[in-house]
Amino acid sequence: MRKKVIAGNWKMNKLKADADQFMEQVADKVPSDEQVEAIVCAPYLYLPSLVEKAKGSKVKIGAQNMHFEEEGAYTGEVSPTMLKDIGVTHVILGHSERREYFAETDETVNKKAKAAFQHELTPIVCVGETLEQREANETKSHVESQVKQALEGLTEDQVVETIIAYEPIWAIGTGKTASSEDANEVCAHIRQVIKSTVSEKAAKQVVIQYGGSVKPANIDELLGQSDVDGALVGGASLEPDSFLQLVEAGAK
Ligand code: PGA
Repeated sequence: MRKKVIAGNWKMNKLKADADQFMEQVADKVPSDEQVEAIVCAPYLYLPSLVEKAKGSKVKIGAQNMHFEEEGAYTGEVSPTMLKDIGVTHVILGHSERREYFAETDETVNKKAKAAFQHELTPIVCVGETLEQREANETKSHVESQVKQALEGLTEDQVVETIIAYEPIWAIGTGKTASSEDANEVCAHIRQVIKSTVSEKAAKQVVIQYGGSVKPANIDELLGQSDVDGALVGGASLEPDSFLQLVEAGAK
């Protein structure tokens, strides 16, 4: 059975004291259940402190982006080597906000996914359609193309380890969640794409999350779907109580 993975994406929120306080309140309350994994993806500045505070707990710490090179003249960037060095285990790649505002492309997402595996970081690869694409019935073809390009050249084992987050852009931060059936349909399609391009084994084992206005009130229904293995959560991951409720839903 696939485990459930609940990842909080704090985006550009919180000051250092709030970040530390969050982890102090959450770390030892996350269930030790093997069936659920809890990840907090925070701004770079807070990562070292969060890694320290999460030590001995089940919470893993992730970044929200990284460069694909190990080092060099890339002013303002952070490398996979640096993340690994401080104890980060996960990294979000290709979030729609990075694609929209920071020129992230399928090609750079693929380079970053390869770099993540070279440095033993687990990538959380985001894909998803705009409202225009959904209305034009292009959701599946668009998501399929994003998935294929992101995973291009990865080994079967690496694909198994990758976390894919299906996040319809129109549902992010808008309060509009995809219906659980719609979310499941696209997650199932992604699994099918992996089956045809990688292997049946990879398709069966890969974790596929849904993201977009997930909250304690709708997580049970989403996780009840056959192909939804967790959630990537923005707004509702910012408060300790709400984050814990989401993780507990994954442990049910
Ligand atoms: P949201 O964000 O839960 O606030 O909609 C999700 C995301 O962007 O990952």
